[in-house]
Amino acid sequence: MYTYYISVGSNMGDKRGYINSAFQSLQQHEAVSKLVASALIETEPWGYTEQDTFVNGMWSCESTLEPHQMLSLIQQLEQEAGRKRLIHWGPRTLDLDIILVYDTEGMLISLCDESLVVPHPHFWERTFVLEPLYQLLPTFTYKGIKVVDRLAQLSV
Ligand code: ATP
Ligand code: CA
Ligand code: CA
Repeated sequence: MYTYYISVGSNMGDKRGYINSAFQSLQQHEAVSKLVASALIETEPWGYTEQDTFVNGMWSCESTLEPHQMLSLIQQLEQEAGRKRLIHWGPRTLDLDIILVYDTEGMLISLCDESLVVPHPHFWERTFVLEPLYQLLPTFTYKGIKVVDRLAQLSV
């Protein structure tokens, strides 16, 4: 059994609608349990800034799916939201990223291959990821820094 923290984002069309329908699909999946969502926040675009504002949030769940299987599942949900890959970091109907994965013993898993890197390589730099993560996992500490302190660092 794994515990997943998955970031969600949308900045096209019915943003909250795309996020909510993906949440329902995941909730109905037989290999997924204990799905919990943070509040959704509105954020400015990151990377490629000439685009609409984002709605971002975080989900946590338990699953028997292996990390690569979870990646396939969230990519399927992105496809169902009609996502097309146009510009990297550009506008999208739905973006789901695996941020953290814990194993059954509660150990944080590190993985790095051509299709999957966890913890997500940019998560520690992104307020729009860390704020919703803080809601779900307020005690989270990475490389000796509490997420709440990291948020304070990023806001200056
Ligand atoms: P960023 O990863 O910087 O947030 P992005 O989400 O816009 O950028 P995408 O175009 O959605 O990037 O994804 C590109 C590829 O990233 C995917 O095809 C996937 O194989 C790979 N990838 C690597 N690590 C992860 C991860 N932890 N979660 C989701 N996708 C990942
Ligand atoms: Ca992303
Ligand atoms: Ca992505």
